[in-house]
Amino acid sequence: MKLIFERSVSGKKCTIFPDCDVPVVMPARCRSEPLNLPELGENDISRHYTALAKEVHGVNDGVYPLGSCTMKYNPKIDDEAASLRGFTDIHPLQDDGHVQGCLEVLYRTEDFLCKICGMDAVSLQPAAGAHGEFTGLLLFKAYHLSRGDTHRTKIIIPDSAHGTNPASSTMAGFEVVNIPSGDDGCIDCTALKAVVGPDTAGLMLTNPNTLGLFDRNITAICKIVHDAGGLCYYDGANLNAIMGIARPGDMGFDAVHVNLHKTFATPHGGGGPGSGPVGCKAFLADFLPGKRVIVKDGSYKTVRSAHSVGDVRSFSGNFLVIVRALTYMLTLGRDGIPCTAQNAVLNANYLRCCLDATYKQAFNRLCMHEFVITCLPEKEKFGISALDIAKALLDYGIHPPTIYFPLIVKEALMFEPTETESKAALDTLAAVLIEIHRKALQNPEWIHHAPYRTTIFRLDEVTAARHPKIVYEPVLH
Ligand SMILES: *Cc1c(COP(=O)(O)O)cnc(C)c1O
Repeated sequence: MKLIFERSVSGKKCTIFPDCDVPVVMPARCRSEPLNLPELGENDISRHYTALAKEVHGVNDGVYPLGSCTMKYNPKIDDEAASLRGFTDIHPLQDDGHVQGCLEVLYRTEDFLCKICGMDAVSLQPAAGAHGEFTGLLLFKAYHLSRGDTHRTKIIIPDSAHGTNPASSTMAGFEVVNIPSGDDGCIDCTALKAVVGPDTAGLMLTNPNTLGLFDRNITAICKIVHDAGGLCYYDGANLNAIMGIARPGDMGFDAVHVNLHKTFATPHGGGGPGSGPVGCKAFLADFLPGKRVIVKDGSYKTVRSAHSVGDVRSFSGNFLVIVRALTYMLTLGRDGIPCTAQNAVLNANYLRCCLDATYKQAFNRLCMHEFVITCLPEKEKFGISALDIAKALLDYGIHPPTIYFPLIVKEALMFEPTETESKAALDTLAAVLIEIHRKALQNPEWIHHAPYRTTIFRLDEVTAARHPKIVYEPVLH
């Protein structure tokens, strides 16, 4: 496919403006060369973007069981609410008195997220999950320092953690201490006890973890960390398994972020915009970033807390993502939210059981919103890898699951079907996976070269890694 710059034809236009009937004044710092922009007709532009859209696979095309990413269908009503002019045609510097409706959106979203997470306060500023983790850790740091506790420099992270956890801990200036999972895929409490101490700033944990397993020792784990003077951070990027049912605050966590772009109805995958609000218990609220909305004398006002860690993003974060999340929560309601979580867990377990006779599960037990299978037996006997299975799925118009993650499972395929897939869609997915398995065992050569029907076939990953072409050289006319 051509780039839009390659489609450009000098002199082509979409719009012809009438001649200017006032004197043209060139501002002093006007650029001397025209900007290099593609020149196309409206028709060409429309076709270009339609062609681009056809080259990708989105949730609107079909099943997208990408584990840990929660690629669920996002109801159109959420986009509709986010398109209302009262929300789009405002300016962040407007007076609080002019934007009471928007402040109400922030206030109510914060309130709902507090209730869902079991927290006392929320900042809506962080722009993504990793950004939320970073912000949460800044709160931990500010808390320890405010008590003159300057030696707490380490964050404990289990080996099943999402890759962003160690990254954001390092960004926030902490040293990462890794602890291994036990044979059951959960935290090894003995290993945890061995590493906590006066240098522990906190623990960062996902529960259910990236294996889709709920840690049965969660309250004991939080107690071990608290007894050592550390704080507990919950990576709630994906709340799909527990929302409305279990709350990080009740499990013993002090702070949590949630990804509105995973669980709460903003389409994602492609770089944003996202939103990763951070919630915390009351004793940390004074450190939260940004301005927060309060009710005073019957109207909404924005205030900044005295010991705020400062802004982590401009204004109130990605406002329209927050509008979508509030719409989503309001349309589901108190009953719909737990029902969504139950269906996410049901769908994952249904698919897990459909595949059980064909693929080996990494941990053969009831899962939460996602589960992991391992292609290690296929790899050892037939040379068939997780990558092969993932590539073969593309020919069936199905987005592959997450592969080679979590790192503690060899040849991992991680499935998260989400609650928005019907039984029929899950049956088709299972049938395709079983068919691929059968064909691959009969003819491993076939699967090594899949996919066959996509625009780009199997990439030579070694060459791509050794000789990456980072700069594209367009063919310009
Ligand atoms: C997606 C995810 C993140 C990171 O979220 P981003 O918005 O991509 O930064 C962190 N932790 C877990 C468990 C996740 O699933």
